[in-house]
Amino acid sequence: MTPGPSRVPQAVLAAGARPMIHHRSREFSAIVTDVLAGVARLFGTGNVVLPVHATGRGAMEATIANLLSPGDELLACCNGKFGELWARLAGTYGLTVHRVATAWDRDADLDELRATLAVHPRVRAVTCVQCDTSTGVHNDVAGIAELASEHGAMSFVDGVSSVGGVPFLADTWGVDVAVTASQKCLMSSAGLSFVSIGERAWRAVERASLPRSYWDFRDARAALARPLPQTFGTAPVHVYMQVRAALELIEREGLDAVFRRHAAMGRRAREGVRSLGLELRCPSLRSQAPIMTAVRTPEGLDPTAIRNALQKHGIAVAVGLGPFESDSFRIGHLGDIRLDNVERTLQTLADVVAHSRRNAWTAST
Ligand code: PLP
Repeated sequence: MTPGPSRVPQAVLAAGARPMIHHRSREFSAIVTDVLAGVARLFGTGNVVLPVHATGRGAMEATIANLLSPGDELLACCNGKFGELWARLAGTYGLTVHRVATAWDRDADLDELRATLAVHPRVRAVTCVQCDTSTGVHNDVAGIAELASEHGAMSFVDGVSSVGGVPFLADTWGVDVAVTASQKCLMSSAGLSFVSIGERAWRAVERASLPRSYWDFRDARAALARPLPQTFGTAPVHVYMQVRAALELIEREGLDAVFRRHAAMGRRAREGVRSLGLELRCPSLRSQAPIMTAVRTPEGLDPTAIRNALQKHGIAVAVGLGPFESDSFRIGHLGDIRLDNVERTLQTLADVVAHSRRNAWTAST
């Protein structure tokens, strides 16, 4: 029950437990083609989708390196650890970064964004996260992409935690670049990421001049365009096999049913947490992510003790991130997780909290 890596279903584990095949074989070429077509459906795009052989942040860095040039300005929605990650990556490449939405307990506010874009007319790209796994926010990607486009800027969206569990409509929303990774709603091992790149973004890739080598999207695209589509460099073939099996599971369940299941788990987790007398870590968020719930630790209780107690019952939840580390923990409900897993977690959490409160009370008397 962590917000990634998520549980890998048996069928996906089995798909990856196969003898090695060569990454230049016809068989692997067919797997790559299937995987990219399946991931494109999750991104909601008819645009090019490329693999990136790295975890999600590698694909985010690759996006910066491929689309921007020295001197470019970027506007980053920083309402969470991964929103801030876009800003940090861009800063590493020497770009000028304007941070907006810096309060972690708030959604990225479109009025603030519009006002900031108005004073920074040279901004070339706006970055955001669809569902930031540090806070549980579900940002308005459609609104952010539209504002960026009105301003003549590109939108780069981190969908690492959400694509495949939450509706994502890259083409309808006009998202220029979207990123996701294998280990969350794609229910596979970590190490493989994907980027969806729109037409305008491709033109930027051709013109951009930041240094890039391993990350170069042009090489990845050229390898795929060969008569037998290939990857750029040796591929993590077993992760591709896993992702293909996971995509089959998603198709079998039906994408809308997958989205409904995630929405239901998100609602139940939030209701359940509140009914135990606990608070969400960021209760003021207007839109909460369906894929995870960040819970504020009750007064006088230690989040590590709660996590350890849950772990003793076989339930792994995750540490709070950044400034929330000392007063929260995070429950993931994404990918292969079902409503009954959420129920069991809530029941066990009720017992753990009651027990911890009794202990705290006994110690204080
Ligand atoms: N973005 C989000 C929303 C994430 O949850 C994570 C990982 O937890 C990342 C980016 C970074 O991805 P990775 O750990 O695969 O590099």
